[in-house]
Amino acid sequence: MKRNQTMFQRILVAFVVAPLAALVACAQTSNITIARPDADSAGIQSQVVSLLQNIPRTIRDRVFSAGCQIVIVPTVPEYTGYGYIDKPRGYLDGGGYDNADGLFIPAKNQLLIAERVSYRNSAPYKANRIPYVLLHEFGHAFDQYLGKSLSTPQWVATTLPRFLDTHTREVQKLSNTDKATLAYFCQAGGSGASETFAELFCMHCQSQSQWSSRQAALVAKFQGTDALVRQVMSNPDQVTTWAGD
Ligand SMILES: [Zn+2]
Repeated sequence: MKRNQTMFQRILVAFVVAPLAALVACAQTSNITIARPDADSAGIQSQVVSLLQNIPRTIRDRVFSAGCQIVIVPTVPEYTGYGYIDKPRGYLDGGGYDNADGLFIPAKNQLLIAERVSYRNSAPYKANRIPYVLLHEFGHAFDQYLGKSLSTPQWVATTLPRFLDTHTREVQKLSNTDKATLAYFCQAGGSGASETFAELFCMHCQSQSQWSSRQAALVAKFQGTDALVRQVMSNPDQVTTWAGD
């Protein structure tokens, strides 16, 4: 009898857990759209669904509940209509949007994942950095979510005094060599702080063995900034403490 009860409980658990898991997957899929389905789209969509599991659940749920949409696009310029003259922030190598394999569009709360990328006039090739791009751009979406969650909403949380000051101080302490290596994260006008947040967020959604040497240098040189990123990743409500100095 006891054994039967246990079996019964197990079956019950299976019946409850399986639909719940399906519901969770379904809720996430509803936040993912495919702009123009082709032979690669479905595979990329399931890769995205599985990668989203690397993001702490509270963060994922809150960012999606706030309306963030992931859009799988053939190429970034095809979807956005951007000309090749525009340059994404921080692109120092002369690449334009034809070279972007992902993008977060704050005004639309959309995170684009490109199926294909091309460099200047070269033929488009299949995007091969989807895990990195998705998690980094999700960091930007989370930054915006945090900013807007405040009682006095901000575009993004990384412009709040505590985060910006901590980041600026750490930039000032860098040697010229480190500044050259980490130039992308040292940009002026809040861009560097925003990129540092997104990159550290991405890193903490991956295992340390996946970090590049530049990423390892970033966390080593921006320990105070990193502590703040980890703080809001474990409890997004802590962002309220960033508003004061
Ligand atoms: Zn970025």
